[in-house]
Amino acid sequence: MDHETKFIFVTGGVLSSLGKGLASAAIGALLESRGLTVTIQKLDPYINVDPGTMNPFQHGEVYVTDDGAETDLDLGHYERFTNAILGRDNNFTTGKIYHSVITKERRGDYLGGTVQVIPHITDEIKDSIKLVADSVDVVIVEIGGTVGDIESLPFLEAIRQFKADVGKENVLYIHLTLVPYIATAGEVKTKPTQHSVKELRSIGIQPDILLCRTNKYLPKEIKSKIALFCNVTVDEVITAKDVECIYEVPLVFHKEGLDQKIVEMLNIWTRAPQLDKWEEIVKRLKELKLSVTIAIVGKYVNLIESYKSLNEALRHGGIPNDCRVNLKFVDSEKIDENNCREILADVDGVLVPGGFGSRGIEGKICAAKHARENNLPFFGICLGMQVAVAEFARNVAGMEGAHSQEFDESTPYPVIYLMVEWYDDKTGTVQRRDITSDKGGTMRLGAYPCNIKEGTLAHKAYGVSSISERHRHRYEFNNAFKERLEDDGLVISGSSPDGELVEIIEIKDHPWFLGCQFHPEFKSRPMNPHPLFREFIRASLEYAGTRS
Ligand code: GLN
Repeated sequence: MDHETKFIFVTGGVLSSLGKGLASAAIGALLESRGLTVTIQKLDPYINVDPGTMNPFQHGEVYVTDDGAETDLDLGHYERFTNAILGRDNNFTTGKIYHSVITKERRGDYLGGTVQVIPHITDEIKDSIKLVADSVDVVIVEIGGTVGDIESLPFLEAIRQFKADVGKENVLYIHLTLVPYIATAGEVKTKPTQHSVKELRSIGIQPDILLCRTNKYLPKEIKSKIALFCNVTVDEVITAKDVECIYEVPLVFHKEGLDQKIVEMLNIWTRAPQLDKWEEIVKRLKELKLSVTIAIVGKYVNLIESYKSLNEALRHGGIPNDCRVNLKFVDSEKIDENNCREILADVDGVLVPGGFGSRGIEGKICAAKHARENNLPFFGICLGMQVAVAEFARNVAGMEGAHSQEFDESTPYPVIYLMVEWYDDKTGTVQRRDITSDKGGTMRLGAYPCNIKEGTLAHKAYGVSSISERHRHRYEFNNAFKERLEDDGLVISGSSPDGELVEIIEIKDHPWFLGCQFHPEFKSRPMNPHPLFREFIRASLEYAGTRS
């Protein structure tokens, strides 16, 4: 590890959901705007080895990186706000740390010793942090959970020790807390911040900078009070003001002097920050002239956290179309042939997102059918593509009972199935699996190449003939039905380079009906909206024009 690398540790106090992930991402953006290179890592206190096996009700979206890691959704914020390329080393959990220590113990690496939290677990945590430190100027490490939780103690102990290991001039602790406005008292309260900092100091960490989440810029007197009680200076107290649009966070932090403070305290010389692109994007997002409504027909419609990247990608897709994207979440368990027309009457496009399990599956099929029959733009992602294929097979190609094997093992037409043998481009090996295989390790995960057919919607969107997109699924399009479905008007517009895996489907003579086996939402950026989302919104906007 290069010793010039600087480390910023971001902890959170008082309560969860204060936006620690966004704050870390915004710090990354600010440092990049000064010409520094950054990476961001998330340390999660839970025992699961990764969030891949947790359901979105528990944990929100599972974010997938190019290298196929199933990670915390905060990595999505990090990638959307910075140019950092993240991978499996950017997310460690307690489970992953212990797994590695226990594996070493069994192998005999600690022969003769008693394996303990300190130093073995804490050393493993520190080594994991150093893994991402090569070749960047600054590593930002976000510690999940809230200070005071039992689970996060080993992580906090490890970052406390880290300062002594790499030198105090190379480490900065930033603590995010809440400064609530209490309406009955007519004032903001600093006590939760004081207590949270006290808690942090009791385990040996004195925060260098406080980010105070609140709804208005904090006046000088409040900052002075916080500074006095928390042992920092007034200019080390930064208002993390609520914002209308998340891409405003770097601008608010900059206005409060955060990036200047960070580089001063870490003693880094940088150019002046260039924030024009953030100013521009926020301005554009606030001044969008047109609008469309998109129905998201899925299972987790009550939880915005579950479709985080998707919601962002839709918003990004609106930007080049000068269009605000309103989302109408439709519970797939509540939509059927009878009410479908009514539920979708006021939308300009239908999106069926990825998912697992059979709940609500017929509702999704019904939404795809409605979109196909009514020239309504349709975008199916992963499971969304699979239901579109089943719907087309059943209702256009006359394959009654066609389905994905995931939901009906004995369907006469398994148009989506578990491929027992396939060539894995990434590892250069032939992979095998069947329905008895473990749930972990049998998914196609991460970036895979895809060739695009000319003259298709996909080609028009991407403008190139070979792309790479991220996957997370077990089932695939069944080539046994390819010819028959193509004869009836299904277009295979994207396939793996060897032609064996179907990656994108479309429907002939429909203004915009597209399903993809991958998750394009993970690669959309505010400054670089994903082409499929851009085109889907463009088509929806056109549809809206015909509707009114
Ligand atoms: N459940 C489907 C599969 O495993 C789709 C997964 C997804 O949408 N991410 O193939």
